[in-house]
Amino acid sequence: MGVLICEIIMGILVIIAGTCIFSFLNVIIYRVPRQMSFIKCFSICPSCGKRLESKDLVPVFSYLFLNGKCRYCKASIGIRDTLIEVLGGLLALLCVYKYENYGTALTVFAFFCILTVVAFLDIETMEIEDGCQIAMVILAAISIFTMPETSLLARLAGALCVSLPMLVL
Ligand SMILES: [Zn+2]
Repeated sequence: MGVLICEIIMGILVIIAGTCIFSFLNVIIYRVPRQMSFIKCFSICPSCGKRLESKDLVPVFSYLFLNGKCRYCKASIGIRDTLIEVLGGLLALLCVYKYENYGTALTVFAFFCILTVVAFLDIETMEIEDGCQIAMVILAAISIFTMPETSLLARLAGALCVSLPMLVL
């Protein structure tokens, strides 16, 4: 029984972590095409320009509590960001349960993060940022240590299937 409760708590923490990380990815996806800094700037409502407080920025929950509307101007907030956050939570859970080794789980999750940013930036700007390519290469290098069981052939296949088309695009 104790083990089960531990697993459930663990699962919830993993979902929260994944959701928060993807919430940050949303910031990147929103700000990079608009050439805004995503470290210094605070978040504003795109409709009324009001500065959002931390209580407005809790992933998923803010959306639910505010009924999908801005607290100040009542403009509806797109559900996309919230769906991306939910996706992040589920992907994190999937990685942890699929891979017993935490290094592997983290690496695979990081790949998902980069691919998500690439996909949504691609939709918005029709371009793939160089930063994403660099992040991918760095992660591939890290994965040599965190996923030693992966064969060289699988790595090459992965690089050819993912990186090459991205580079060409
Ligand atoms: Zn507003």
